[in-house]
Amino acid sequence: MSITALSILRNRSVLPNCNNFLRHVSSRTSRFGFVSIAARQNPNSYRKQQPHKYLLRAKDTVRELSSLSPLLSPENGPVLMPNQAIGMVAAAQANFMRVIVESAGPSTAPENPIEPEEQTVGVELLCVVRALLKKIKRRVLVGDKVLVGSIDWVDRRGMIENVFQRNSEILDPPVANVDHLLVLFSIEQPKLEPFSLTRFLVEAESVGVPLTLALNKLDLVDEEIQLAWKARLSEWGYEPLFCSVESKHGLDSLELILRGQTTVIVGPSGVGKSSLINALRSNQRVPYAAEADNWFELVEGSKWFGDQRVGEVSAKSGRGKHTTRHVSLLPLSGEGYLADTPGFNQPSLMKVTKKSLAQAFPEIRRRLNASEPVKCSFSDCLHLGEQGCVVKGDWERYPYYLQLLDEIKIREEFQLRTLGTKREGDVRIFQVQDG
Ligand code: GDP
Ligand code: ZN
Repeated sequence: MSITALSILRNRSVLPNCNNFLRHVSSRTSRFGFVSIAARQNPNSYRKQQPHKYLLRAKDTVRELSSLSPLLSPENGPVLMPNQAIGMVAAAQANFMRVIVESAGPSTAPENPIEPEEQTVGVELLCVVRALLKKIKRRVLVGDKVLVGSIDWVDRRGMIENVFQRNSEILDPPVANVDHLLVLFSIEQPKLEPFSLTRFLVEAESVGVPLTLALNKLDLVDEEIQLAWKARLSEWGYEPLFCSVESKHGLDSLELILRGQTTVIVGPSGVGKSSLINALRSNQRVPYAAEADNWFELVEGSKWFGDQRVGEVSAKSGRGKHTTRHVSLLPLSGEGYLADTPGFNQPSLMKVTKKSLAQAFPEIRRRLNASEPVKCSFSDCLHLGEQGCVVKGDWERYPYYLQLLDEIKIREEFQLRTLGTKREGDVRIFQVQDG
């Protein structure tokens, strides 16, 4: 019999005699250990299913292994052993990571022509991730600072042994230690839409790293429109940088801003994100950038990887089983990095809560600061017009704040309801082959 999966979610009206049905299914399938039933209507019939002993044992093992390999602290890096190095993950594809060396330990190979310290900084190593890290589900992301071991300096190969703590992390695209977001919109084609811009700004503010707002396609508008937007956005609390990938206006200023930082560009589609990335990339004289696209193909299938589970790469797609979107960090001439993949096209606002939303509006931050030491009368004021609120008022984006607050409230209530009922009310039955 083939595997069947049956899910009954909250909608009890479809099953008039639900409890009897559940008891029946439970008695039929519990011996397989895959049934999790919570019958809220009759608490006496509820018997908590104990996880299987092997699962418990596996959980303990993961805990033990995690403590064996704690995250490295950025302040107190380890003393590097021979053929170890610290570096930054610049690209990831399938099971391979490209790491740029920042500092290295002594080499053990007498025939090694490369003198560590002098010639290892900036070297790119092709690395696999130590099995233990995978076992304890420690993800290695592009942008991560990592400890690399077992380095073969001649072949430029190594193994990522551990990861340093992250300062920040964004999920779309997956990049760690991002220290700057560039929010890019166009003034025309597509037309700058204030509410959409607000959503992007709120999402970017919620990441907690500095952001720059740039308005592209300046070549399509006259000065009057530019000045009007400048004045309007200044009221919001932003000083936009006007640019045009087409005419190259403002690109030098942008390069200066990006210098020395790891930046991800975000914005809606059509505003020129890819064009800007390409423009900034073609300014680079580093051969690395040009080779980035086929770098992994050059090394895949090499003898060195024969015993490194290359088989996990799907023959059909050529991608690893757990590969997320491909992303690389392109080095900028001024010692910064730029993600080659644009970020959140659709801000989900999943990290923004009812309480944190206000902090994502410079207008609200300004009003709260200006009123010091007087504050809103209630410490948990949502600025909806509560008595003694210093925020409610006549400012352009206040209606947007209210609209987003409503949206987040609905989402939070929904999450509470689904999470709250998952354990009690949801019924999931996985019936396995019993023949
Ligand atoms: P993305 O979706 O944000 O990555 O946008 P693209 O980079 O694909 O650009 C969308 C369109 O806008 C393309 O046809 C570009 O040639 C065009 N474009 C990009 N930058 C400019 C600009 O500064 N001025 C003008 N007029 N068109 C631009
Ligand atoms: Zn208030």
